[in-house]
Amino acid sequence: MDNAALAEAVRRGERRALARAITLVESGRADHRAAATDLLARLADPSRQALRVGLSGTPGVGKSTFIDALGLHLTAQGLKVAVLAVDPSSARSGGSILGDKTRMERLSRDPAAFIRPSPAASQLGGVARRTREAVSLCEAAGFDVVLVETVGVGQSETMVAQLVDVFVLLLAPAGGDELQGVKRGIMESADILLVNKADGDLAAEARRTAADYAGALRLLRKRPQDPDGYPLALTVSAATGAGIDIAWDAVTRLADLRRAAGILNRTRAEQARHWFAEELRAEMLTLLTRDPDLKARLARLEEDVAAGRTTPAAAAAEALRPLAATPPPGLDA
Ligand code: GDP
Repeated sequence: MDNAALAEAVRRGERRALARAITLVESGRADHRAAATDLLARLADPSRQALRVGLSGTPGVGKSTFIDALGLHLTAQGLKVAVLAVDPSSARSGGSILGDKTRMERLSRDPAAFIRPSPAASQLGGVARRTREAVSLCEAAGFDVVLVETVGVGQSETMVAQLVDVFVLLLAPAGGDELQGVKRGIMESADILLVNKADGDLAAEARRTAADYAGALRLLRKRPQDPDGYPLALTVSAATGAGIDIAWDAVTRLADLRRAAGILNRTRAEQARHWFAEELRAEMLTLLTRDPDLKARLARLEEDVAAGRTTPAAAAAEALRPLAATPPPGLDA
């Protein structure tokens, strides 16, 4: 199948075509990259936009159980739901957080849902890039909601927050001590905190925890663009489904408020700028290291920097000399 046919099939919402397209953007091969860039350009369509939601939480907090329940709640409303997983640790383990077939068992059988595991490290073309491009592909395929799931390890939340409209943090019921353990940066990037497992013996503890978080959120500086009441802390039970509808209403209400205030589009524009700068950086490095001689030169410069024979700034200027068409003002070539 050529790119034109693949693009058509993705646009028709064919899941196998979508899976294949995502495999293409995940590939690290130079020819695949060129094909992926071409495919993404063919599929660029501002009229097809999904609600992009990030969901983060530590292992065991109930992310997959929650997504399974939330996903069914959404498909029951006639919405098409895509789930993408980000697992930076897979670069070490070589595993994938969604590789286990038992995760999201009910949702994975739902024809209105598409679940994509985190790729193994070997086929990883940059975690941020592949996730961002996979989101665009899901949008092009006509999905209404794209959930980006990430394991709570700091870096990945920051990255995911840069590519979603609303960021949700899933937390476990826990006393005040553990509340301190949530990194401030992650709390600050979250729009909605959900204390999961609010059922059975844990229900009261979950309510207390949510109240504690709500208190902590009030102490954090409110972002000026946030509507009243956000960030928000609620309880849910992924196991019984209690609170899932309220949590989803909070997500869509926030997205609606942001859309009405023009914030949603502004944020997406800022994100696009950010990723453009990231792409430039990444591509520049690729160009610099494509030529074996240049690559060897970079390695030598790196050693010089490490040994203190030159400064990082001087070495970078030296490394970039072949790219500079004209010398900077005040310097003779
Ligand atoms: P993940 O690692 O964040 O994806 O967590 P899982 O969804 O795999 O859940 C971890 C464990 O917590 C499993 O044993 C689930 O059955 C359990 N669990 C998840 N959600 C709930 C919940 O709402 N209530 C209770 N009691 N247990 C839950």
